Amino acid sequence: MKVNSPLEAYKFLPGTNCGRCGEDTCMAFASHLIDRSHKATDCLPMVEEDKFANKLKELEALLAPEIREVVIGVGEKAVKIGGDDVLFRHKLTFFNKTAYAYDVTDTMDEKELLERVNTIQNFKKFYVGDFLTLDMIAVRCVSGNPETFTAAVKKVMQATDLPMVLCSFDPAVLKASLEVAAEKKPLLYAATKDNWQEVAKLAKDYEVPVTLFAPNDLDMLKSLAKTFSEMSINNLVLDPGTFPTGRDLKTTFENFLKIRRAGIEGDRDIACPIMAVPLTAWMAYDDEISASYWETVLASVFTVKYGDIMIMHSIQPHALLPQLHIRDTIYTDPRKPVTVDPGIMEIGSPTADSPVIITTNFALTYYTVESDVSSNKVDCYIVVVDTDGIGVEAAVAGGQLTAAKIKKTLDDAGFDLKEKTTFNTVILPGLAARLQGDVEDQLGSKVLIGPTDSGRIPGWLETNWPPENK
Ligand code: SF4
Repeated sequence: MKVNSPLEAYKFLPGTNCGRCGEDTCMAFASHLIDRSHKATDCLPMVEEDKFANKLKELEALLAPEIREVVIGVGEKAVKIGGDDVLFRHKLTFFNKTAYAYDVTDTMDEKELLERVNTIQNFKKFYVGDFLTLDMIAVRCVSGNPETFTAAVKKVMQATDLPMVLCSFDPAVLKASLEVAAEKKPLLYAATKDNWQEVAKLAKDYEVPVTLFAPNDLDMLKSLAKTFSEMSINNLVLDPGTFPTGRDLKTTFENFLKIRRAGIEGDRDIACPIMAVPLTAWMAYDDEISASYWETVLASVFTVKYGDIMIMHSIQPHALLPQLHIRDTIYTDPRKPVTVDPGIMEIGSPTADSPVIITTNFALTYYTVESDVSSNKVDCYIVVVDTDGIGVEAAVAGGQLTAAKIKKTLDDAGFDLKEKTTFNTVILPGLAARLQGDVEDQLGSKVLIGPTDSGRIPGWLETNWPPENK
């Protein structure tokens, strides 16, 4: 049995509504246990009082996700993978976005290696109020030499705090690198049917997570996972092999589905994060463009189903952007609209003569409007109304965007249209035209109806602003 609802979780709590967890009631706390914004140990009475000890232990076990969570790295840049409870995002949400690692090799000269590391760690793309970034460095042993590999690992560690995957099937190579890198808690790649005893000892001795690799052999993968778990090595990642083309690719896809389905349905042995290696596309194609595009196709497929971590090679924008946008979409919580803070935003250097544009706090709406005006160098104010993250048309229909809310947004910001602007005029989105009369009454201001598409705002302003010129 697993705790799936606030009511079920509530039964384990003290029920005193003492407020020490920061919530007014135990029921409110219970709902945050379910959405994972609180942990059971945030209820201090349960931690401090012996009489709750068993209930706390039971609750923690029942709240644990079906798929194990594995942490790689340390500090702010550490990544957490796995931790999912469902096969389909709409049934809850997917937690812990797929971690993307990009490779360097120990045969690269220092300049090339550091340039790649810097490109990987500095890459960022602004999207809907946040930056899309890359997560990890995979250091691959090509030399076969423990000293050469360790020297490359040291250089990576000096250049970045990003977590690492240490890639070699040779336990001697992994051991040498762990001597210098174990404290950074890298992920070992990988234990196989041939080296598992030595690699298991390394994972245990150095207390680092480890990948188990059994290409297209799910029985072997499960057997390795069971053996490692019985040795109390629980931070496991499973790699069933990523075959890049043909029927083997179909089999790879089916393997990912089988592993995740079994894990969600209670097979504890293989309820672990899964690794995909889209980098194998580079073995299938000779030319760089085809390989990098096919690598992105593989990354997209296994981000959707059910890769928790990936190793890739191409760091060209044409490869990175699709990967990052797909990941961002899959790991956006479908239960929560993406929002921005309400208030008055100044775009450019607005003056008293500048337009005042109304919109909602649905992030996609706000950043579309913001981008359309700022990219056209329109100095203006944007009044961002709290509509619970709902877009203009639905917010008007549902009563989240009203004249009273627009007035409240202006009042809360201390933005008096008569004092701060020359024209005492606001511009409503075309999709909110029916609010015009109410807004004029509430604000005592003139209301213009702008276009329905914010991309047309700059052109619309040329003929409609300032309002006296109409
Ligand atoms: S600290 Fe515990 S007992 Fe107190 S309100 Fe929160 S959940 Fe309830």
